[in-house]
Amino acid sequence: MLDPAKSGVSVALKLFRKASFMSLSNGRAYLAIPGPSVIPDQVLQAMHRASPNIYEGELHDVTASLIPDLKTIAMTDQNVAIYIGNGHAAWEAALANVLSRGDTVLVLATGRFGIGWGEMARGVGAKVETIDYGAQSPIDLDRVAAHLAADTEGRIKAVLAVHVDTSTSVKNDIAGLRATMDRVGHPALLMADCIASLGCDRFEMDAWGVDVMVSGCQKGLMTPAGISFVWFNAKADAAQGDCVTSYWNWRPRVDPEMYFQYFNGTAPTHHIYGLRTALDMMMAEGLEAVFARHTTLARTVWAAFDCWSATGPVKMNIADPACRSHAVTSVEIGSPTGNALRHWCETTCGLTLGIGLGRDPADAYFRVGHMGHVNAHMIMGVLGTIDAGLKALDVPHGGGALEAASGVIANG
Ligand SMILES: *Cc1c(COP(=O)(O)O)cnc(C)c1O
Repeated sequence: MLDPAKSGVSVALKLFRKASFMSLSNGRAYLAIPGPSVIPDQVLQAMHRASPNIYEGELHDVTASLIPDLKTIAMTDQNVAIYIGNGHAAWEAALANVLSRGDTVLVLATGRFGIGWGEMARGVGAKVETIDYGAQSPIDLDRVAAHLAADTEGRIKAVLAVHVDTSTSVKNDIAGLRATMDRVGHPALLMADCIASLGCDRFEMDAWGVDVMVSGCQKGLMTPAGISFVWFNAKADAAQGDCVTSYWNWRPRVDPEMYFQYFNGTAPTHHIYGLRTALDMMMAEGLEAVFARHTTLARTVWAAFDCWSATGPVKMNIADPACRSHAVTSVEIGSPTGNALRHWCETTCGLTLGIGLGRDPADAYFRVGHMGHVNAHMIMGVLGTIDAGLKALDVPHGGGALEAASGVIANG
């Protein structure tokens, strides 16, 4: 009888299988980057439809229904304008509406995104003063106070701050920033970028005294990239200067006489349906429960990294847990291990981690997105995959990470 184990056919088959078929990455891929985030199946299904009538009917009602929920999510009674565009579009819209050419803005940079918003302000025609806190610290409010107090002639029109800078995963104290501005009696507008944080980390626009806030739909709001938002109050509207152009003007968008003024043209038809479903999901869960879920899952991630970093090169970028985002965790691991780990996780296991955005060298860092449509078993899957990657790549690390992580999930 032919022994299959010894037959040449069998050996060849085994080799062929190993070369061509052995993969642990087949199955549902998981994009654990800090935006775009995981899109719920319900959102995808809501978008899977024929183009609706844009002239009348359901689309108009669905669009109008988004407005109160967008205000609820931002915890504001003020205005919200929707733009077809990504977060960068909302950045420019916000700046164009409040600035006049030659105005000065103060940028409080705690990572790549603060710097980027400042560069855009310069492009819009503003003079930009920047306090750069580097990539590992939150905004130091005392330095802000000193800078604003020195501005005795009130040249600073607006203070630009990023709530969560996605490149560093630092979370800034926006309420404290407003208190600092009030304490020194500076009249500047407070403008906040909540593109990464909205729907993940608590943000209260009105209670915290924010005049303008920008966000997008593809992070905490769980919708494919493509629409973004600017919330603004009456003080910000009254500041409108000569940088505003008709397309970016927020006024017709918040108070449209005709439906088309919401978008200055054709509506983002499918995004409207997708966002409607995403907001329904968030409202059904309840905003407080959404925040609590993100808090516990973030603590789960941190518990694992605390163990891994006990020995070897792994280190969370932000040391103080109180200053860490609940939406994203930035990690230093040494060059080029950051890239090697990302590559291993993606090709071997089907998990995509975020790049070391805006860092030098970028391949010494990676980021874990834990924003939006994520639950406990997804986060345990991310952490288990990273744990395997550290072993496979012989990266020295402390043990007990998965044990610690499951403990957080078990005990809240
Ligand atoms: C993602 C992000 C942006 C940029 O948004 P895009 O949609 O990529 O233009 C800006 N700021 C922060 C904090 C972000 O996380």
